[in-house]
Amino acid sequence: MSNLKQMVLDYGKVYPGNVLKVDSFLNHQIDPHVIKSIENDFYQYFKNKGITKVLTIESSGIAPALMVAYRFDVPMLFAKKALPSTIKSEDKYETLVHSYTKNTSSNVFISKEYLDKDDKVLIIDDFLANGEAAAGLADLIEQSGAETVGIGICIEKSFQPGRERLEKAGYDVYSTCRIKSLGDGKIEFYE
Ligand code: 5GP
Repeated sequence: MSNLKQMVLDYGKVYPGNVLKVDSFLNHQIDPHVIKSIENDFYQYFKNKGITKVLTIESSGIAPALMVAYRFDVPMLFAKKALPSTIKSEDKYETLVHSYTKNTSSNVFISKEYLDKDDKVLIIDDFLANGEAAAGLADLIEQSGAETVGIGICIEKSFQPGRERLEKAGYDVYSTCRIKSLGDGKIEFYE
């Protein structure tokens, strides 16, 4: 069993609405060893895709995305949830994303400066539920003319529709930990 799966079993807490809380090692306090332990899985799966950039969304995606970008030796870019005054409105790509955990929709942005039509982009995020965040990031990539070459997820809740939605849209989805069920507060994995 991978380090991440073991940590999910030992420290993950199931909350109402099929929310898994992993604040002690991934979402609030971050254990670099756990992230380091899955970075190689992403690298092995996507290493022949010619990746030039890793894209995530703030804030929980940043830590795993940075570690993966370091391994691929490419920059990591994250979509921002608030538009800083330093990015002019005509200089950004923008898309609407619904937040699973907050149940609100908001626009996220990236500066046009950092995505080029020749980029081959790997999306990395901490969780996959309904696929909103990943689909929004893929939309930002499409606006730039770049290519989404894959979507890497740390913890996929496979009983929710995110993977199916992304695969139907043609994306290659790879997850390091796939949860089959959170029923009765019990965490069950695939395999
Ligand atoms: P999606 O956009 O696929 O519906 O949901 C993924 C996003 O919502 C992730 O970026 C993550 O921050 C958050 N999320 C979804 N489900 C969970 C969960 O069970 N636990 C935590 N901690 N975050 C989640």
